Amino acid sequence: MVTGQRHVPTLSVIRQALRHVQGDIRWDEPLAPYTSLQVGGPADVLVFPADVEDVIHAVQGARFYHLPLMVLGGTNVVIRDKGVRGIVMHLKQLSKVYEEKTNRVYAQAGVRLPRLMQFSLGWKLSGMEWAAGIPGTVGGGVAMNAGTRLGEMQDVLEAVDFVTIHGRRKRIEASTLSFLYRKTMLPKGIVVGAWMQLRSSAKDTIHAATSQYLQYRKATQPLTLPNAGSVFQNPPGDSAGRLVEAAGLKGVRIGDAEVSVKHANFIVNRGAATAEHILLLVRKVRERVARKFGVRLILEWKVVGER
Ligand SMILES: Cc1cc2nc3c(=O)[nH]c(=O)nc-3n(C[C@H](O)[C@H](O)[C@H](O)COP(=O)(O)OP(=O)(O)OC[C@H]3O[C@@H](n4cnc5c(N)ncnc54)[C@H](O)[C@@H]3O)c2cc1C
Repeated sequence: MVTGQRHVPTLSVIRQALRHVQGDIRWDEPLAPYTSLQVGGPADVLVFPADVEDVIHAVQGARFYHLPLMVLGGTNVVIRDKGVRGIVMHLKQLSKVYEEKTNRVYAQAGVRLPRLMQFSLGWKLSGMEWAAGIPGTVGGGVAMNAGTRLGEMQDVLEAVDFVTIHGRRKRIEASTLSFLYRKTMLPKGIVVGAWMQLRSSAKDTIHAATSQYLQYRKATQPLTLPNAGSVFQNPPGDSAGRLVEAAGLKGVRIGDAEVSVKHANFIVNRGAATAEHILLLVRKVRERVARKFGVRLILEWKVVGER
């Protein structure tokens, strides 16, 4: 959540707050189709800013009228069934990516990481191989410090193109930020783009590293069913998947939510799961693992929306 809710927003107030926004605006829009888990209720309003100016207008409007506003990339979140009050912003129109100068790539926040990886491959730039198979956006990748054992956003990020909660655009140098496991310590606001420092390399070498990793993912993760990536963070010195599997939870279901039989740190939607089913299953897994191993698993997903 970029700005916090101080009162229940009315549609007329939201309309007023968004009056300068040029991009597409959809009212009472179901959010499930915009998430990789395919669950969740509607947003009061879903905004697709046409450009960074639009993001600034929406942020300023939300701030002026004390409206909640959040950005949705959709691949690491669970939207609750009652949906989200206030403004949800989807940055798919911020989709430019280019080589700004030798080895330095600028990507807008709505670019999906696999596209950025393909772009880098095309320009024979190495450094983004870790992003192969991470379906999130550049904005979400920066906010989450997305990564794999091949590397993470922190390794290549030079600076963040950012809109503050006051609606001011600024460049934040990566050297001034702290990076944690799956979290970048950013001020409150919206990532609208990122500069990444890559290095030139042979296309074959980059291609070999990424395709090997994609094959590994395909073999070990339930990619054919809706999911939101790893459910829990790995506890220090252990793996969440190992603990969940050892607790006998593989294949356990609540409604259509299932602990994947392929990888125990994934929960999949077998068709008609609701957010409630999924969150009940999360609770069950946590309780069982805590009881059996004394380990309190920490959720990697973000859970948002009205309770
Ligand atoms: C099959 C699958 C495999 C995955 N594998 C990996 C993996 O290997 N490694 C990994 O790290 N992740 C993985 N993920 C999770 C996910 O893709 C990443 O966490 C990604 O970085 C989330 O990006 P998103 O754009 O979908 O953001 P969301 O999931 O929508 O949001 C995540 C958080 O970032 C914030 N956020 C999003 N965009 C912005 C923005 N522009 N400005 C400010 N804040 C923003 C949101 O508000 C939220 O708090 C996987 C997911 C799936 C479905």
